[in-house]
Amino acid sequence: MHKIPITPIMKPSEGSMGSTGTWRIVKPVVQHDKCTYCLQCWLHCPESAIVRVDEERKIIIDYNYCKGCGICSDVCPVKAIIMVEE
Ligand code: SF4
Ligand code: SF4
Repeated sequence: MHKIPITPIMKPSEGSMGSTGTWRIVKPVVQHDKCTYCLQCWLHCPESAIVRVDEERKIIIDYNYCKGCGICSDVCPVKAIIMVEE
């Protein structure tokens, strides 16, 4: 199988207000059985919080920087990302 390396366009980092993960009131959760590995979520995340795909091709979100905006959930073509209250 062809392996696509996933490298963030930008690495997330703390700003003057600290880590954006502290802003979050809802959290994206990936339903891996639905994910088709299209990487639209990775492309659109404004915080570069979708950091990598693990060995099993699972999307990994860095919750230290995910601010819970829900863009990843909105752009996912198969609705594999649900937003849940924390
Ligand atoms: S909820 Fe927003 S910040 Fe968090 S992973 Fe999705 S697009 Fe990125
Ligand atoms: S947008 Fe949805 S289907 Fe595509 S990689 Fe992300 S979670 Fe998977």
